[in-house]
Formats: sequence, C-alpha cells, structure tokens
Amino acid sequence: MNNIHSLYIHIPFCNKICDYCDFTKLQYFRNFAVDYLKALKDELASYNIGKLKTIYVGGGTPTALEDDLFLELLKIIDPYREGVKEYTFEANPESLSLEKIKTLKEHGVNRVSLGVQTTNDAILKAVNRDHSFEQVKAAIKNLKEVGIDNINVDLILGLPHSSEKILKEDLHNILSLDVKHVSCYGLTVNPHTALFNKGFKEPEGDLLRAYYDIVEEVLTNCGFIHYEVSNWAKPGFQSEHNLTYWRNEQYYGVGLGASGYIAETRYKNTVNLSQYLNRVFVFEKENVSIRDKFTYQVMLNLRTIEGLSLKVVKEEYGVDLFKDKQKEIQECLDEGLLILTDEKLVPTYNGMMVLDQIILKLI
Ligand code: SF4
Repeated sequence: MNNIHSLYIHIPFCNKICDYCDFTKLQYFRNFAVDYLKALKDELASYNIGKLKTIYVGGGTPTALEDDLFLELLKIIDPYREGVKEYTFEANPESLSLEKIKTLKEHGVNRVSLGVQTTNDAILKAVNRDHSFEQVKAAIKNLKEVGIDNINVDLILGLPHSSEKILKEDLHNILSLDVKHVSCYGLTVNPHTALFNKGFKEPEGDLLRAYYDIVEEVLTNCGFIHYEVSNWAKPGFQSEHNLTYWRNEQYYGVGLGASGYIAETRYKNTVNLSQYLNRVFVFEKENVSIRDKFTYQVMLNLRTIEGLSLKVVKEEYGVDLFKDKQKEIQECLDEGLLILTDEKLVPTYNGMMVLDQIILKLI
C-alpha cells in the first residue's frame, strides 16, 4: 500500500484563450483531444494508483471537451474514484451544460470549481473571456438542481478596468449565489500573454492589499473562513485536495504540464503536446532531500490556518525552529503576523499578506 491519496489530472484544452492566461493550455481541436485522452489513460495506468481520497480535474478547461469526449474522460477516471471523498472538476460557465452536469453527477463528481473571474460583463469581454454573469447564474442553478452544491468560484483581483467598487459588486453578486468556497488570486501579467503585450500592469502593493482587505471583510462577515492565503470557505468546505499540497503531502499529477510528488521526488510533465502524445510524460524531476522537504514544509504549511507544527518539524527534520529562529519568530509574533498555539505557528491575516517575508526569515 502506498500513502498517496490525491490525484491531479490536467486537461489543457480551451475554446478561447484569455488575455491574461499563463497556464498550460491549447486551443481545442477534436483530433488532438481524442489522442490526448488515449495518452492520458496510458499515463494513469503507468502509476500504481491505490485508494484515493481526492481527485481534481483542472485545466485548461475540462468542460471544453465535446459531450462524447467529456463522457470518455469521466469513464477513464472511473476506475480510480471508488471511495474518493472529494472529486472536483474545474469548469467554465459557458461550457458547463446541464447535460455535462448530469454526466458529472453520474460519475461521482461532488465538487465543481467555476472560473468566474469577475461578474462584470464588460471586463470579461475586455480580457477575452467567453462567458457572461448570466451564464454563471445559470450554471450554478443547474449544478444545485442536479445535486452538486459544493461549488467554488474563482475570482481575479485587479483585472483591467477593475476597481474597488466593481470588486464589491462582484462579491455581492457571488454571495447572492450561495456558494461554499471562493478563491481570489491577484492578477499576474506574465510575458507572452496578450495582456503583457498590451502593456497592462498587474496590481501591486497597496492596491492589491486594498482588494484583499475588501474580500476579507466581506467574506468573513458572511461566515466564510479565510483558511489559505487566497481561499475562503464555509465551515467544512475547505478544499481537501488543495490541502494535500499545503500539507506537503504526496500526490499524483497526470496530463500535459502537470506536477506531481511521488517517492520523495517532485516532477513536472512535459508541456509539449507531441512529446506527450508519444508517451514521453515526465519532463523534469527533483529529488527532495530532507532539507528541501523541510523548506517545502515551512513554505506550504504557513499558507493555511492549520499552520506549521514545531513538534512535527523537530521530529521529522530534527530542526528546533523555535530555538534556532527564536528572534525571528518573536518578531513575527510581536508584529501580529503569526500566532503561536498548540506548538504551531499560524499566520494571521496580516501575516498571510506578507508571507514571503515570514518564510524568508524562517528558512
Ligand atoms: S480558460 Fe483558463 S486555462 Fe483557458 S485560456 Fe482562459 S485562463 Fe487560460
């Protein structure tokens, strides 16, 4: 028996490419998708996958697949889903039809993460998104009617033409849909994206912090728990799959450009489709030394309110962090960036906002 309980599957196809996108994605072509699913099936079979607790199918846009290929994907995953507690599909509102929702339900999917980004139709159009807020409402209504009510909504902070007023409207609109989970990411403008070529700058410093402050106030006042830097959930609806990453636990990653962590090795798959279709899946591997593992543990554990256990760090890595970094830890405690509880260092909201600085002090 192995101790890997999570599986990430990447579906790289999209019907339209968003101006800010820096993910591993490809324009959808049926022939590529047909071959891709065959390769994906082979890659899955190449691992000795045991009993899983979580499966997460992301992209790209998994719902970009046409109905028959969408069903084929779910059938490919079926052999791995027995006993899975949380089975998530990412979806875009415009391609999440009632038919697809029913297929998801029939194949055991119990959580959907919807790429909403903003509820402002003019901004959606300006960044080449293919949906409207009306379609978001329709998709969420359909999901609930079919019986999938564990729904996440992704928002992006600082899209072009956005403002604090628009963000408040976004949050108001999202709350009216009664979803269980909200993820908010600051816009990043990477080279080679259309936004970069248009000269658009990402929000930084005070502006990004002002956006986060609004999200924090609105969502926590409405009963959401801010449990990870960019994630808020109603009690009991934290993403179990993503907690695998933040707990520094191992997971399988399959599909174009996917990352995984197996047998003390972190790996990244190729982003080259022809290589992938030729069954050359893994592109690079990093053997994780005990010191690396400690570093990951600090970096990842401090992202969530589960925090970093000083006891675990001492037992597993032989590092007495409280002794070795006494001065730095005390500074963070005094500045209200961390709290110490049950031998755990837990980030406060202010701490989450400057997490990189805290991590640099501790590793
Ligand atoms: S839908 Fe997602 S993956 Fe596809 S282009 Fe847009 S941001 Fe990128």
